[in-house]
Amino acid sequence: MVSERKKTEAEFKSVTPDMETAPVADSGDAADDPAIWIHPSDPSRSLIIGSNKQSGIAVYDLNGTEVAFYPVGKINNVDVRQNIPLNDTISIDLVAGSNRTDNSITLMEILPGGNMEDIFVRPVLSGLKEVYGFCLYFDRQNQQAYAFVNDKTGLVEQWRLFGTDDLKLDAELVRTFRGGDGQLEGCVCDDDLGFFYLGEEDKGIWKFNAHPDSTSTGTLVDDMASSYLKADIEGLTIYYGADGKGYLIASSQGNNSFAVYRREGNNEYLGTFVISNAPLIDGVSETDGIDVTSASLGPAFPNGLFVAQDGYNHNGKKLVSQNFKVVDWKKIEEKLKLE
Ligand code: CA
Ligand code: CA
Ligand code: CA
Ligand code: CA
Ligand code: CA
Repeated sequence: MVSERKKTEAEFKSVTPDMETAPVADSGDAADDPAIWIHPSDPSRSLIIGSNKQSGIAVYDLNGTEVAFYPVGKINNVDVRQNIPLNDTISIDLVAGSNRTDNSITLMEILPGGNMEDIFVRPVLSGLKEVYGFCLYFDRQNQQAYAFVNDKTGLVEQWRLFGTDDLKLDAELVRTFRGGDGQLEGCVCDDDLGFFYLGEEDKGIWKFNAHPDSTSTGTLVDDMASSYLKADIEGLTIYYGADGKGYLIASSQGNNSFAVYRREGNNEYLGTFVISNAPLIDGVSETDGIDVTSASLGPAFPNGLFVAQDGYNHNGKKLVSQNFKVVDWKKIEEKLKLE
């Protein structure tokens, strides 16, 4: 007898990577979580920002070349938001992450050319025992930015980010709540619809209201009882389509795949894809973090892109340090017959 899970996995759709980044500098489990920064005037100069959880933040261009590295500490997860207001007239692009070197939230500004510099007035020290997963939230209705950080015991902190008089960023803790019973990590916020999605690694995907004054009771979007998810749940990301539509995507690490759900409504499951070997680029397995954009990024990625950490990066037969793989979004959309 073939198990239900095997039958379902046989229906997974396969796409191939179109680009891979340079390997990270550290060996072993090092690359973790990618984020995408869109260049304000020339989208072909957009950047992939990837955490190296042993040493800092690496930055890659759309050819996969490493263009910068910031040795800011053991950054586990990283996230980006653009045009975050510091005051009534000045906005910045923000890259932020959970920093396990000093158990803090690292806040950096991405300058218009793509260089990054610190923008916090003081270290934002978490009250969690050990910071782990991380994501940003920009509440579009009241133009307020927040950071969510979580830990391996199931706790979540929400921080409000605000500009200071000298045009830096500071943060205040606005909510601490239980996000699950076990180890948490991957998370993502829907800035328009006001949701915070959270992966409990051996259980499933939770959905909370992202506003700090709301109830902290989550609803389970999906769990391991489904025939297509297999622990751990790792990275989560949102594809922003028009009119509040789009997709929620989850890394199902235990079967090396990516589950796609409807962004709106009750997050209906739409299908799963895997990233297989291309002639010159190896496929993707045991993925931690992921990100996606619907924005056109110039001639190389006119239909947006999906980026995933690869747990085992082979160059030919040789296993080298981990990296990030990029797929033209159009291929995923066509394979899964997304509208
Ligand atoms: Ca890993
Ligand atoms: Ca991320
Ligand atoms: Ca994990
Ligand atoms: Ca691989
Ligand atoms: Ca490779």
